[in-house]
Amino acid sequence: MHANKKPGLFLPDTVFPRITAVTPEFLKERGITALVLDIDNTLTTHDSPELPADVAQWLEARKAEGFQFAVASNNHEPRVAPFAQKIGVKWVADAAKPLPRGLARAQQQFGVPKEQMALIGDQLFTDVLGARLFGIKALLVEPMAPDHKKLIRFKRVLEKPLMILYDKRGGERCGG
Ligand SMILES: [Mg+2]
Repeated sequence: MHANKKPGLFLPDTVFPRITAVTPEFLKERGITALVLDIDNTLTTHDSPELPADVAQWLEARKAEGFQFAVASNNHEPRVAPFAQKIGVKWVADAAKPLPRGLARAQQQFGVPKEQMALIGDQLFTDVLGARLFGIKALLVEPMAPDHKKLIRFKRVLEKPLMILYDKRGGERCGG
């Protein structure tokens, strides 16, 4: 979203087709050094313990460039901790997104000001709203796979008019 436009609580700053489309140039231009990542349908498909190969490659490359990462999930510790340890990032389980407290825990672990943080996630009502309430940039990715859970499918219906509004306002889309 352009700097002269207020993005609104439910609208992201930028939309990407996949997390791998978030380039280091994009992040550096905006002063972002620390990224909070949603897990399900952002990094991998629901309940998968593995990263897709291209996502693993992207993550390792960005880590080598000095970017910090934490996963923040509303899922519980047994899903989140082993996953985070396996991919070598910090983590916040039971993040209670969209409440800002999980993101505050991520910020403590990063030790950076909010201006240097961004969240990458696939849902407007948890990820984007959470980033907005906490006051960091919100990068939205298209969900990696179709949603099967009823609640999420319902939320997708509600997201549609908001994304139409986003595009009408000339919201930024990168890498697609
Ligand atoms: Mg998700």
